[in-house]
Amino acid sequence: MTVKITRQKYERSISSNSPRISIQRLENDIIELGRIGKNDQDGGVYRPAFSPADMEARKWLTHKISEARLQPSMDGAANVFGLLKSKAEKKKSFLVGSHLDSVPCAGVLDGPLGVLAALECLRVIKEQNIPLKENVELIATSDEEGRFGGMLGSEAICGAWSPDRIQKARDIHGIYLTDAMKNCGLDPMNILSAQRSRQSMIGFLELHIEQGPILYQKEIDIGIVESISGLFHWQVVLIGESNHSGTTPMLGRKDAFQGMCEFSGEIPRIIEENGTDDARATIGMVQVRPPSAHTVPGRVEFSLVGRDFTPDSLEELKLAFRKALSAISRRRNLMFEFEEIAKIMPTTCDNAFVNIIENEAKNMNCSHMRMPSGAGHDGQFFGRYMPAGMIFIPSLHGVSHSPDEWSSLEHIEMGANLLLQSLLQIVGS
Ligand SMILES: [Zn+2]
Repeated sequence: MTVKITRQKYERSISSNSPRISIQRLENDIIELGRIGKNDQDGGVYRPAFSPADMEARKWLTHKISEARLQPSMDGAANVFGLLKSKAEKKKSFLVGSHLDSVPCAGVLDGPLGVLAALECLRVIKEQNIPLKENVELIATSDEEGRFGGMLGSEAICGAWSPDRIQKARDIHGIYLTDAMKNCGLDPMNILSAQRSRQSMIGFLELHIEQGPILYQKEIDIGIVESISGLFHWQVVLIGESNHSGTTPMLGRKDAFQGMCEFSGEIPRIIEENGTDDARATIGMVQVRPPSAHTVPGRVEFSLVGRDFTPDSLEELKLAFRKALSAISRRRNLMFEFEEIAKIMPTTCDNAFVNIIENEAKNMNCSHMRMPSGAGHDGQFFGRYMPAGMIFIPSLHGVSHSPDEWSSLEHIEMGANLLLQSLLQIVGS
């Protein structure tokens, strides 16, 4: 109900002279792109970085960019661009977009919404001959979902990859990045050539679904992101002793799985004592060895991802997790090892962009709130390199990374129009 009332007000405000996007065109694009990598059995999208489906999506987008009479290109890290040049003959670009890759069994909006809304914004600017004081580039980054650790595409642009990191990067199945890229006909070392100078880019804007329940539950149309959480990703191994589950007494067992369970039980306390109110930690993947119902588990490997909004609280969380693992291992006669797979620092969005988005949301009569992003985004890297801003729209029931991920067409339209208005405030002349 709230959404409907808001929409009427929004319709009145946007129907003035301001340019607006075509929701039909945007919806068609979302549906078309959503078919690439879709599994008919579970309805999920499977477009992991450097898979055939991911490359097909990049080809599809390049075609769409050409169709819109923008200048398409792809860099050495497989980031796709669509350039709309300012008549003022500028060398710098403002970037707008999101990512094209997906987690396994994903929905159709996480990433594509921001890419396709940006494409639609550029189409409108081009068709209506709206003057720009700077070049604008659509960007569709690669491996934002971190198949090979971190965020490959945006990090490559920021110069964060080294030859050594390229050689060593593997996914959770042990597939090397170098092999995955070669299978797509790409030269992995070309990732290094994707680096761009700070002077060539003015800023970055991204529209994304919230991927959480806050906007949906509060019935608020727009989230204006103020900060993006940082994270650390550990691969932890607890080593005990495998033995017969019938003959080994309960007392004195070196059961690695029990050790992990005790550690898992301590996570809420550690978060409460050492993190901010927005801190999170999750054990997402567990492998018990040997895989036998009749054996005391001698080895357990698990992932631990901690997230928070300040560098200090991330460090405090790490220390507390290490202490807990060490105490539990001592008590249970286990050994523990861990490897830091990825580390991404928290980032704040550009204050001027936050204000611009907020003002435009007010002008459009959309209900809005400032909020942090618990999920990681390319803006985390771009935000340290150039001013970055993010707009969220509500996720239906707060669901994401699932075939059920969706947002209402009203919110998709509002978000894309807000992206257009904010973009024009920044680069329109
Ligand atoms: Zn995303």
